[in-house]
Amino acid sequence: MADDMTFALDSRTEVARLMTELLGSPQVQSHVAGRLMPGDGETLALTDPAIGKVFSEFSEAGEAVVEAAAEAAVAAQRAWWRKTASERGRIMFEIARQIRAHAEPLARLEAISAGRPIRDVGGEPARMAEMFEYYAGWCDKITGDVIPVPTSHLNYTRHEPIGVVTQITPWNAPLFTCCWQVAPAICAGNAVMLKPSELTPLSSLVIAALCVKAGAPKGLVNVIAGQGPTAGQKMIENPATGLVVFVGSAVGGAAIAAAAARRLIPSVLELGGKSANIVFGDADIDRAVVGAQAAIFAACGQSCVAGSRLLVHRSVHAELVKKLAEASPRIPVGLPLDPATQVGPVNNARQWDKVDGMVRAAVSEGAQLATGGGKPVTLGETGGFFYAPTILDGVTPQMEIAREEVFGPVLSVLTFNDEDEAVALANATPYGLAGAVWTRDVGRAHRVAAKVRAGTFWINSYKTINVMSPFGGFGQSGYGRSSGREALAAYTTTKSVWVETAADPAIGFGYSPG
Ligand code: NAD
Repeated sequence: MADDMTFALDSRTEVARLMTELLGSPQVQSHVAGRLMPGDGETLALTDPAIGKVFSEFSEAGEAVVEAAAEAAVAAQRAWWRKTASERGRIMFEIARQIRAHAEPLARLEAISAGRPIRDVGGEPARMAEMFEYYAGWCDKITGDVIPVPTSHLNYTRHEPIGVVTQITPWNAPLFTCCWQVAPAICAGNAVMLKPSELTPLSSLVIAALCVKAGAPKGLVNVIAGQGPTAGQKMIENPATGLVVFVGSAVGGAAIAAAAARRLIPSVLELGGKSANIVFGDADIDRAVVGAQAAIFAACGQSCVAGSRLLVHRSVHAELVKKLAEASPRIPVGLPLDPATQVGPVNNARQWDKVDGMVRAAVSEGAQLATGGGKPVTLGETGGFFYAPTILDGVTPQMEIAREEVFGPVLSVLTFNDEDEAVALANATPYGLAGAVWTRDVGRAHRVAAKVRAGTFWINSYKTINVMSPFGGFGQSGYGRSSGREALAAYTTTKSVWVETAADPAIGFGYSPG
């Protein structure tokens, strides 16, 4: 942490300056049909997580904004699909170039408004550009198949866009989740209405503006600044929406899936997790210590794949917990703009209270605080929502902290005696998003990887993901897949075309399914 408050700033002035530079206006509005559009709903406030002070207020999008976005998206999608696949790819490469050209102010805006350390988000625009580049390359490679049917027909498939997709994203990594979903959606030929969290709408608004700058049809990417149960639900209910892609909590996911089901439209759900990081006795313990810290403390634990449960073989439990408890208080917790900061604040006061409440409950149930708990003393004077990297030892599978997502820098340590017990513990939550195993035994590593129910699994590693590789959950961590080629399957629908090729076809009542 910086010794002084060098990196504290007047976030109201700084955000207004960055927004004017990137969006042409300091006012938070929606981005619809290629321009900013004011809302007419409830007044919402944006708070700087590092100082706990409001830096901006805005009126959330009401029905008129959502209607305008849907209309613009329908028109833009038609224009987008009329372009050749190569033209769409070229525009997506240009979106990537625009993101790179605006990387510095974009990263700064994200750091201040979402409270994410600049050390993490400084390089994020480059990775977001890579997402658009990856899918730009796919634009002219989405091809169908010719099926060797047993009749005289030529039968082939077409992977067609769904049309307009509603996307709803959370507050923990707003820039990442926006680009992660917009890039495959438009690659597949769709238009988008995206609603970022009402707590962190700014970087998504910038992406919408950069898409227009890159030459995408106005209205191809619309960003709606508003809340979930109001604006979000209106977006799903709008007849233009043909698919809902949701990134957020399991509770939110259930509300989204129900709303989508009422309209008989599909949904992709990317939800929370309670991922297990399993350390066997033969692991390289020093590497496992670093891996365990990165798994839970990066992004202040506000990561869907956070390794929030450390399952440790009894033989190395004491050594591992001692090393973790010594190393964790040395992790620099501090202001997001300080380049030395590795752990920034929790995003908002409500989340801070939730994290602290769960830690207190675990201690009252018998867990032992190996380190952390509460606000770090060094940051006591700031109004920011800082939480000390926390390790709870002696956690049992029955405790709430072992089953429910904390979404903060809190590691629960549980012990096991053998491989079967490790796998059973790993699978003992309703979630199934990610997990890892640390061992030098190759056979065991692959056995465990096969048995743990999780969409992403690491061996002697943690947290690496890439746009090229599919990502998604088992169980209450959601369904459908994002990233890679699989995202394109989610964002398209398949048509089977039958062409009669016989010179003298016998039109009859052949086999049909219905
Ligand atoms: P949340 O579910 O409260 O909100 C997510 C989004 O949904 C927000 O935009 C919110 O406005 C909207 N929303 C909430 N209720 C809604 C409703 N009834 N109708 C329509 N929209 C609604 O989640 P959060 O607290 O913002 O984010 C944290 C959660 O997101 C954690 O559980 C985390 O694990 C999860 N997450 C998952 C992934 C993933 O890829 N699996 C990635 C990041 C975060």
